[in-house]
Amino acid sequence: MLNKNEIYETEIIDYTTEGSGVCRIGGMTVFVPSAAAGDRAEVRILKTAKSYAFGKLEKMISPSPDRICSDCPVSERCGGCLFRHITYEAELKFKQKRVYDALTRIGGISGDIIGSIVGAEKSDHYRNKAQLPVAYDRDGKICVGFFAPRSHRVIPLKECMLQSEGFNKAAEIFVKWAEKNHIPPYDETQHKGVLRHLYLRYAAKTDELMVCIVANADELRHEKELVSMLCAELPDLRTVVLNINKEKTNVITGKNCRTLYGSGYITDELCGLKFRISPLSFYQVNRDQAERLYGIAADYAGLQADETLLDLYCGTGTIGLSMAGKAKSLIGVEIIPQAIEDARRNAAANGISNAEFICGDASKAAADLNSRGIAPDCIILDPPRKGCGRELICTAADMKPKRIVYVSCDPATLARDLAIFAEQGYNTVKALPVDMFPRTGHVETVALLTRTALKEFY
Ligand code: SAH
Repeated sequence: MLNKNEIYETEIIDYTTEGSGVCRIGGMTVFVPSAAAGDRAEVRILKTAKSYAFGKLEKMISPSPDRICSDCPVSERCGGCLFRHITYEAELKFKQKRVYDALTRIGGISGDIIGSIVGAEKSDHYRNKAQLPVAYDRDGKICVGFFAPRSHRVIPLKECMLQSEGFNKAAEIFVKWAEKNHIPPYDETQHKGVLRHLYLRYAAKTDELMVCIVANADELRHEKELVSMLCAELPDLRTVVLNINKEKTNVITGKNCRTLYGSGYITDELCGLKFRISPLSFYQVNRDQAERLYGIAADYAGLQADETLLDLYCGTGTIGLSMAGKAKSLIGVEIIPQAIEDARRNAAANGISNAEFICGDASKAAADLNSRGIAPDCIILDPPRKGCGRELICTAADMKPKRIVYVSCDPATLARDLAIFAEQGYNTVKALPVDMFPRTGHVETVALLTRTALKEFY
């Protein structure tokens, strides 16, 4: 039994999925935030539970060889990055192990079909979207930044290492304008004030910047001045939008937008296609890695000219549309109506005429297509973190596609679902982790499944 406040010398052996260091003391698992695997240190016990405890790094004895100095002044407090204290190589090793452990232990997958993680060339400044809350700082000055973990306290942003570099300048100009004109930040406890979020998006391939102000108002005082200040200093600026959110809610954006400058959207290129990005439309946050992820998915899908592709959880259609040219037809399914509208528009804008999109629950839509006798040759699954679940897996298997490509953002639910697929006659023949979000705890995996009888072809 460990006692609170006692100090133990120990070695950190692993990380949790949230990036905390893990060690074993007296048979107990102890979680130590900010510790790195390989650190030898004194750990103070802060809180104990039955089989685990939480500790604090009290004194470093010898640091892990993976350790580096954080290059961000707020990384300890902000919570946006989990791995700013270890090398990117060490982070990739951890992510590889996380996928390996989940797939082999929970999924019953043989470790030798898991490929080496696809790391990112750019591990900093890769995010193309920032939603920064507006607040008063300690000195009563207007600031934008990030909420500290589990709180609504804003940590002012100076220079975020994950965000696109142009965002800092946009934030600086916006704050200058708000201060000068005394436009008050929104206060969520009183439901008063105006400026809720500064919302920035950047199309990395085309160099187009969007500035969107989310406000508790239909219009802003000195709107025109804001536009001219932004235009004067941001050569990539293409549009400025006001998003109106007068609800008492912590949902960031409201339903209505008013364009203050430009067309109201920016356009990016992904896998040779053009995608329109407006404040309310979904777009992959790390464009370059999304392109690589889709490339791997396309390779696994191996579509032929006479084949039908079913893209379940299709969002704005990006994965399916990037492969539609290789197939006879594409059917996409997604639950959010706005995303389906975007998917249809994306298809039209790229001259893709062999695609149709259905708005509805993936499981119900698949069952419906199945009962109508539609038999896709290949199914793509890209569910949210909770995975697909048994019902959809049984329907997908019942449609007897030749190949299933599963794109997952959670190794644990992927592993669970792959085991259910195996029961239904679909074996995993290849899996590859892809790092879409360097410096955070997230890791994606692409897996290829084929019907058991066809396995020898792959
Ligand atoms: N494939 C897309 C988006 C994947 S994110 C891309 O690469 O961009 C997962 C998507 O699943 C989200 O768009 C979410 O709205 C959608 N979704 C969540 N639950 C769903 C359900 N039950 N049925 C259909 N789609 C769902």
